Amino acid sequence: MADLQSQIAANLADVQGRIAEAAARSGRRPDEVRLVAVTKYVEPETIRPLVAAGCRLLGENRPQHLWHKAEALADLPVTWHLIGHLQRNKVRRTVPLVAMIESADSPRLVAAVDEAAAEPDRRVPLLLEVNVSGEEAKHGFEPDAVGPLLDELPGYRHVEVRGLMCMARWGGGPDAARRDFAALRELREQLRADCPEGVALDELSMGMSGDFEAAIEEGATLVRIGSALYHGVL
Ligand SMILES: *Cc1c(COP(=O)(O)O)cnc(C)c1O
Repeated sequence: MADLQSQIAANLADVQGRIAEAAARSGRRPDEVRLVAVTKYVEPETIRPLVAAGCRLLGENRPQHLWHKAEALADLPVTWHLIGHLQRNKVRRTVPLVAMIESADSPRLVAAVDEAAAEPDRRVPLLLEVNVSGEEAKHGFEPDAVGPLLDELPGYRHVEVRGLMCMARWGGGPDAARRDFAALRELREQLRADCPEGVALDELSMGMSGDFEAAIEEGATLVRIGSALYHGVL
């Protein structure tokens, strides 16, 4: 295996270059798109070179793995986003470790995070995960359920909904993925028209290794990329 550090730095440079090109194609600056480096495939010893190469924002989809890796890497200047399903019995332990939960997928979970963040008095940034493709097995709000949840937000003082997140339908190919991303953006535009005061919905988290360029062209502000960072390493 090539030197781990240089292989990962090369992968990261490649991904960042592709992000910048996709941003340029859609008339946006590269810094309008943030890279969430997904660490679910690798152990802390592989995450360290990723951070050394410049990644500061890391994402895990499983709460227990996030707990474990955040602890193992507590000496590094990184922040964590949870990007996968959060069971309510894991909320209390997860909230103090994350800068954002990108995968809030039910009203009960939003309420549980609000409660867990009350002491100490914090406001936890959330994205609402939307099941835009309507697949049965998927977590997330139905598109029609997002508006009613936003209307309840003024009652919550410890969560701050910053935007929406989605995953493209499984196995649909690039055109279907692009349609799912466009659907999330359009839902956001619709919801913005009559959001409660103080809710901005600026963030759209969409796009993974196989489809992030289309997501950026459709307006992604956060792309969650795993496998493309570990070519030649796994
Ligand atoms: C694994 C995962 C990703 C990254 O997927 P890659 O295809 O490896 O880039 C993004 N988002 C979520 C929610 C994931 O679970």
